[in-house]
Amino acid sequence: MNLTDHELRVLRLVAQGSTHQEIADELVMTAKGVTPTVNRAIRKLGARNAPHAVHLAHLAGILRRERHGDHAGFTAHVRRGEDPWACTQGCPEGERAYRAGRRQQRKEAA
Ligand SMILES: [Zn+2]
Repeated sequence: MNLTDHELRVLRLVAQGSTHQEIADELVMTAKGVTPTVNRAIRKLGARNAPHAVHLAHLAGILRRERHGDHAGFTAHVRRGEDPWACTQGCPEGERAYRAGRRQQRKEAA
């Protein structure tokens, strides 16, 4: 039942209401290639259709909303095996502010 990263990315976009063409553009694949990926995710989740798959994935906690712009978002990138410093949605800035705050706290505690 483990979804691949690719299936997860596709399912996340389905959950956001993206069309197959939009998914294809976003993930640099063909619109034709989206359908079998969605069908695989549906099968793996034991769902009856795509909306059902999105629902089940949410219940299973595997489609959590991605968080960006702070320490939690930064560490979430690390957990997903991504480079957090490459995030363009505010994670590097949020992490720098977090680290500066921690440094300040340590200085005050000393
Ligand atoms: Zn981020």
